[in-house]
Amino acid sequence: MKDRYDVIVVGAGPAGSITAMYAARGGCSVLLMEKDRDIGMPVRCGEAVGRDGLNGVIEIRPRWIAATINRFRLVAPDGTVVEPDIGGTGYVLERRVFDYDLAMAAVEAGADVVTKAYVNGLWKESMNGRERIVGVTYTWKGVPRKVRGTVIVGADGVESRLGKWAGIDTTTDFRDMECCAQMTLAGVHMENDVCEFHFGSRWAPQGYLWMFPKRHGMVNVGVGISGMAARTRKPLYILEEFIKERFPQAGVLTTVAGGVPCVDTLREIVKDNVVLVGDAARQVNPVSGGGIAGAMQAGKIAGEVIARAVAAGDMAELEDYPRRWEKLRGARNRTYYKMKKAVFNLSDETLNSIAASVLKLPREKQTIWGVFRTALVKRPSLILEMAGTFGLK
Ligand SMILES: Cc1cc2nc3c(=O)[nH]c(=O)nc-3n(C[C@H](O)[C@H](O)[C@H](O)COP(=O)(O)OP(=O)(O)OC[C@H]3O[C@@H](n4cnc5c(N)ncnc54)[C@H](O)[C@@H]3O)c2cc1C
Repeated sequence: MKDRYDVIVVGAGPAGSITAMYAARGGCSVLLMEKDRDIGMPVRCGEAVGRDGLNGVIEIRPRWIAATINRFRLVAPDGTVVEPDIGGTGYVLERRVFDYDLAMAAVEAGADVVTKAYVNGLWKESMNGRERIVGVTYTWKGVPRKVRGTVIVGADGVESRLGKWAGIDTTTDFRDMECCAQMTLAGVHMENDVCEFHFGSRWAPQGYLWMFPKRHGMVNVGVGISGMAARTRKPLYILEEFIKERFPQAGVLTTVAGGVPCVDTLREIVKDNVVLVGDAARQVNPVSGGGIAGAMQAGKIAGEVIARAVAAGDMAELEDYPRRWEKLRGARNRTYYKMKKAVFNLSDETLNSIAASVLKLPREKQTIWGVFRTALVKRPSLILEMAGTFGLK
């Protein structure tokens, strides 16, 4: 490890590794720092991602794929099942392998990687009467250390503190913080080309319960509900109840809990020489809660932009990152966030009646958009709520 780098990336999840890889490919010296001893562990993720989210960022390797998904199964509170056309292909990943390989790809591009490096602050120095960020402070094997960097990247996930240290407002309303619990079960029979989602007050108040298949009878089963709903019912208890009822014989291989910021991107994701990516920047799809694709796409843009800024010696170039993100996904995520707020509180009766109506549509109209359109027809007040959230009323 050197004592000075062009780029320091804090956090070796998908966002950090991809940023490091693209910055290194662009000619920067890069240090990727991870606090855990093992990259990719523990896996706090259902591991589902759309193929389009990976394409154009990295070449997909077969060893990352635990299942290839062609179908969604949506289960209404009364058990009515709708299988809309998803118009594409998705994967359930092996994130233990995936995250590891992404960090390896960063190393192959020229980045240095260090694990067990817990970043605990920004290193600031006063220059010409102005305080500037010149690196990070961290502990490694319990010893306090410092390393200099021209650009500092906060890829430190949902619990990110780096943005705050840089003076960025990273506050997320607790209602938008999806509280999740997940178990990986063994010995469960499930078709391995379908992702199943359960809706309604019993299993997923203000959220959904998911079942994502993996190889050899393994399934990720999880519950994600809004911070508001989690005040009265803990996702872990709901999950335990579901598993007891549905899969009493299953073996439980892992149990994890975590938060997903189901909100639109932070207003500020670049400040001076600090850049935020992934969950740290709130680049999750607010409707689905999926954050892998956004983290990686943002990482690619950030890495490319940082390399250009470093080569030019001009930090003002970093402003191209929020502009490109806005064009690619930022504007869309803002719309999704408004949609989420509108459909968030549907009653069980409304959900049941939407499912029944969708089943009456011709097969080719049973798409995700068909479901959403039916929701609007079934509950016309939604149109008003949507209009409100879009600022039209
Ligand atoms: C239960 C659950 C299920 C989910 N399911 C899905 C899903 O099916 N599909 C999907 O797309 N998304 C899912 N998500 C969201 C997805 O996991 C995240 O959006 C994604 O991992 C974001 O990547 P990231 O690189 O920004 O952050 P992370 O993957 O969280 O990586 C951040 C890294 O930073 C490190 N770090 C943090 N602080 C420091 C520090 N101070 N110093 C050094 N290192 C630090 C952490 O150890 C971590 O390795 C789920 C989330 C949860 C909680």
